[in-house]
Amino acid sequence: MIGLAAMARDVRQGPRTDARARPTWVRRICVAGLAIAAAVALRTVLETFGDFYYLPMIPAVMATALLADRQAVALAILLSTGFNLVVVHRLNVVDAAVNAALFAVVAWGIAEVCQRLIEALARAQDLARNLTVRQALLDAILGSTPVVTVDRAGTVRRITPAAAGLLGEDPDAVTGRPFADWVAAFDLETLSALEGGGRLGTPPDGHWTAVKANGDVVPMTLQAALLPDQAAPEHIVVSLADQGESEAARKRARDLQTQLEQVWRLNSLGQMAATLAHELNQPLTAAAVYLHAGHADVVRSGPLGDSAGRNLDLAKTQILRAGEIIRRMRDLIATGSRSFSREHVQSMIDDLSPVFSLISRDSDVPIRCEIDADDLVVADRVQVQQALTNLVRNAVDAVGGQSGGAVAVTGRSFGVEGYELTVEDNGPGIPEAERAHVFQPMATTKSGGMGLGLSVTRAIVESHGGQLIVGRSAQGGAAFSFRLPRTLEAAAA
Ligand code: ADP
Repeated sequence: MIGLAAMARDVRQGPRTDARARPTWVRRICVAGLAIAAAVALRTVLETFGDFYYLPMIPAVMATALLADRQAVALAILLSTGFNLVVVHRLNVVDAAVNAALFAVVAWGIAEVCQRLIEALARAQDLARNLTVRQALLDAILGSTPVVTVDRAGTVRRITPAAAGLLGEDPDAVTGRPFADWVAAFDLETLSALEGGGRLGTPPDGHWTAVKANGDVVPMTLQAALLPDQAAPEHIVVSLADQGESEAARKRARDLQTQLEQVWRLNSLGQMAATLAHELNQPLTAAAVYLHAGHADVVRSGPLGDSAGRNLDLAKTQILRAGEIIRRMRDLIATGSRSFSREHVQSMIDDLSPVFSLISRDSDVPIRCEIDADDLVVADRVQVQQALTNLVRNAVDAVGGQSGGAVAVTGRSFGVEGYELTVEDNGPGIPEAERAHVFQPMATTKSGGMGLGLSVTRAIVESHGGQLIVGRSAQGGAAFSFRLPRTLEAAAA
């Protein structure tokens, strides 16, 4: 923050430079002494041609003013007058005093002019430096900012490469043409309504749209600022923001959410079918055995029992069929084909970030993601995203209502061994005795829970050849981790 504040100040005022650092007294004495000594030497040489009195001292005082400061100048003047008073024999004291005073005034005046010149030079150097910095900053900003300037007639006078890129044009092809050629609603009426500057209101038909060189239509936000009259013929500077990009990002996030919901429904259905098949298998088999025994009893009772025997047989066939239907349904959904491909974990997490943001915003629990590089794995992208979402939801639920609750998703590379993903929280954790139980379908401690999340997640992890492991996180809560394979063979293992 301090750095930024200093930078903002520097841009406004330029960095403070102290071109005329105050000299020390040693320097003052050296400069004044040497300058006057040189003047005395010069004067001695010139004496052969006549009387020069104070004249050689003037350049010495000027040199002192240029090389040091006012105190050194005063010293030089003192030394000069002292020397002249001692060496030059005047007829009377008044004459000597008047000459000394005159010299002091003239020398001080000349020194003052020299000092001012030096200060002006230092200021000019500062200004030039600041201008260079500002220019470099401006170039850097404009290089990456989509900005256009237009004149009063709505003609483009300048356009930055970023803005030209947004319009799919070369900057030269845009300059000199009406901006309305690309943004049709940006007409003269809009321009005249813009005298106050500020954000441009959206046109009556909804939003600003630009038609790019290739015919694509992109939604945009325009922001305008009025330029001062001195900038004429440029009148208004317009900055453009492509809404198409963020619209596309929003659509991607929506699509992923829909996909995750579908996968969740299918996965839970598969898990329910598997559970049902498992739970109903025994009673159905028992019923079939009882019917079989009943049928044998009825057949033994002679022709009277023939019809009842046939009915019992039919009932047994139907019961066996019911079992077969449930088993087939489980196989169909549970072993539904996985589509493995090479994926970057970071990219899977990036896709999920709008989903995590939503979960985080609703629960007020921060979700931090830290993904190691070397993250290329073989995975069913949506299934792994589903597994991570389940674990993150559970972690957020676990810390819900607790102050300072936090969830972290970390990715660590284990080289050829695989890539490990961990979701951990600082909630109450899961006691060791309950760790096996939480993976059972329908096991839940939540009032609205279905108890399917962890069993579905485990099935996803196992279909990638891995194991879902639960432990204690370093923050004291639960930590769920699993590894993703690097190769298809490892996934099938
Ligand atoms: P549900 O979320 O519908 O309850 P899950 O199978 O996802 O179903 O979770 C089963 C149970 O495991 C949860 O009800 C909860 O008691 C426990 N659990 C899961 N994740 C955590 C966690 N991060 N911290 C504490 N308990 C958890």
